[in-house]
Amino acid sequence: MPASAPPRPSPAAAAAAKPKSAPQKAMEKLGLLRDIDLALHLPLRYEDETQITPIGRTREGDTVQCEGEVIECRIETRGRRVLLVRLEDETGDLLLRFIHFYPSHQKSMAVGQRIRVRGELRHGFFGREMVHPTFKAVQPDTPLAEALTPVYPASAGLPQTYLRRAIASGLQRADLRELLPQGTVPSSLPPLRDALNFLHHPPPQARLGTLEDHSHPAWQRLKFEELLAQQISQMQAQRERALLKAPALRAKPGGLVERLLAVLPFGLTGAQQRVSEEIAQDLALGQPMHRLLQGDVGSGKTVVAALAAAVAIDAGWQCALMAPTEILAEQHFKKLIDWLEPLGLQVAWLTGSVKGKARQKMLDAAASGAAQLVIGTHAVIEDKVTFARLGLAIIDEQHRFGVAQRLALRRKLASMDLEPHMLMMSATPIPRTLAMTYFADLAVSTIDELPPGRTPIVTKVFADGKRQDVIEKIAQEVAGGAQVYWVCPLIEESEALDLNNATETHVELVDALPGFEVGLLHGRMPPAEKAAVMARFSSGEMSVLVATTVIEVGVDVPNASLMVIEHAERFGLSQLHQLRGRVGRGAVASVCVLLYTGPLSDTGKSRLRAMAETNDGFEIARRDLDIRGPGEFMGARQSGAELLRFADLQEDSLLLQAARRLAPQLLDKYPEAAQRQVARWLGSKAEFLKA
Ligand code: ADP
Ligand code: MG
Repeated sequence: MPASAPPRPSPAAAAAAKPKSAPQKAMEKLGLLRDIDLALHLPLRYEDETQITPIGRTREGDTVQCEGEVIECRIETRGRRVLLVRLEDETGDLLLRFIHFYPSHQKSMAVGQRIRVRGELRHGFFGREMVHPTFKAVQPDTPLAEALTPVYPASAGLPQTYLRRAIASGLQRADLRELLPQGTVPSSLPPLRDALNFLHHPPPQARLGTLEDHSHPAWQRLKFEELLAQQISQMQAQRERALLKAPALRAKPGGLVERLLAVLPFGLTGAQQRVSEEIAQDLALGQPMHRLLQGDVGSGKTVVAALAAAVAIDAGWQCALMAPTEILAEQHFKKLIDWLEPLGLQVAWLTGSVKGKARQKMLDAAASGAAQLVIGTHAVIEDKVTFARLGLAIIDEQHRFGVAQRLALRRKLASMDLEPHMLMMSATPIPRTLAMTYFADLAVSTIDELPPGRTPIVTKVFADGKRQDVIEKIAQEVAGGAQVYWVCPLIEESEALDLNNATETHVELVDALPGFEVGLLHGRMPPAEKAAVMARFSSGEMSVLVATTVIEVGVDVPNASLMVIEHAERFGLSQLHQLRGRVGRGAVASVCVLLYTGPLSDTGKSRLRAMAETNDGFEIARRDLDIRGPGEFMGARQSGAELLRFADLQEDSLLLQAARRLAPQLLDKYPEAAQRQVARWLGSKAEFLKA
């Protein structure tokens, strides 16, 4: 396109004018809106349409392009209708078979036509053949492709030809000017524009291997760009936070913290003491804390949260505590309230089920500052909720909250030019590589020690065929006074999925265990009913609790010593670990039975094996990361922020190091270039990465 040509409207702008076509809608769904999006939509693989293979020289199994004249075109109707086309060149002939075809096929491949076909060559009964090749009518002088033909990730209703054209023009229009000052990019990497042109249209002699395994310098350049943008944005967030102010919170001598420690029924473990001090030091600074408290299931995070809350409240500020669901908020913070309320604290509850007058009362208490502790679910971050003096926000099971929600919480104090301190808690530790890249801006405290007196959980993996044996074992256990969890993956799913859903299992266990109470708990029950069921299980009246994953986190019933997880193959590793953490809370030896329905894939097997082999949540998180990749691991879908598209943290650690070195230099010396780099690569996602 000549430089003077008027800018063509972008696909998105053009689409606004007239109704969108199906391919346009499909493109939007894939996020292909701006020219840069199109330019960065890279091929999955390539097809070589740059050469013609003489028919006589084709080999079985090769995917090749041939050209010749149609010498026969007929429909065979024995059994199924098949279109048979015979193609000939100087070296031999080739039979094309089409099982799906239209009258237009016969027209373009009429006898005497010259056509070019591409497909996989087979040796059939009648000699060389191709099934459903791509084809096009050509003239003897129709040129061949000069570059390899890209095959893009597409979706239903989005033909490759349409996508190719859209991407080729997007690539031309996109602003791919070099943003980084000379000498800053590793010299082995090509300029961005060259890299992208190459990746979309590689010359025929390009080595496909290096393109497909992404080790080609053109790929490396893209990965470097992406990692750099991400590192800049992280460091920027870090620097911005350093400028923010938060209330400096200090516990008073003889105050709430000391009183709390005095009423606790146990002494803190060394690890709990250490992390509590780390948190107290942060809180005392006039700068918002942004700290993750990680510790395995059962490691005792709640008491650490209570101590942090006590510091904030002692200093005259409010503390908000959030858990992902109502039942968890209740279960999770019950102890904390039991400890703190007797010390004279005002607690407000804010969950979806607190309604009407009661809700207004809670809202007023938060807004006036009368409630020192506000506990709840997502309801806490709704717009209507205001705090008089929010000093500390604690989020339990932080990975279950979206990034946007964490951001909203931080803004709850914005009216005072201050931000609250943030403490996030998680039983799913972040592996080091992830911590370095995504959470460079996050301080981490780790509880690496369990409270004394725990007996390790024994995990057993059985095929579903052992179900009756497992039920017999349950009967023995409950007869001896034990309590049992039975976890099912889904409730009332369609029969087609062949899931034993929780209701059926409940009926089955009620029948199998006469004289014992078997309860059912699932996500669709009204909160009051859930609470009633939980209460019966906690008090020991109920022997068996059949539940969907609503019990995943936080439930604390020390007498429960057996857990059965049905369809264990359908759960994520971290989720299984969380679930398993519901048993083994008391001194009795506990067992977790993972029932699976085969056949299992190799990954499926290694996942369940991992569960049986280790009780260490950190080790499990590491394996989970290996198996699932970082996006899944961090619940990226939930946050709406796509994480790294091109780079791979393990494979590209050298590029990552280079990006980490360059990012601060750019921020210091070329802040504008740094800014544009972030905008180009992350756009609105930059904000997300800071949360
Ligand atoms: P999690 O880290 O999974 O949130 P909790 O805070 O629920 O763990 O603690 C698990 C159990 O261990 C609770 O019953 C809690 O009261 C108990 N606990 C916590 N800290 C200690 C300790 N230092 N000594 C003995 N028991 C403790
Ligand atoms: Mg907890």
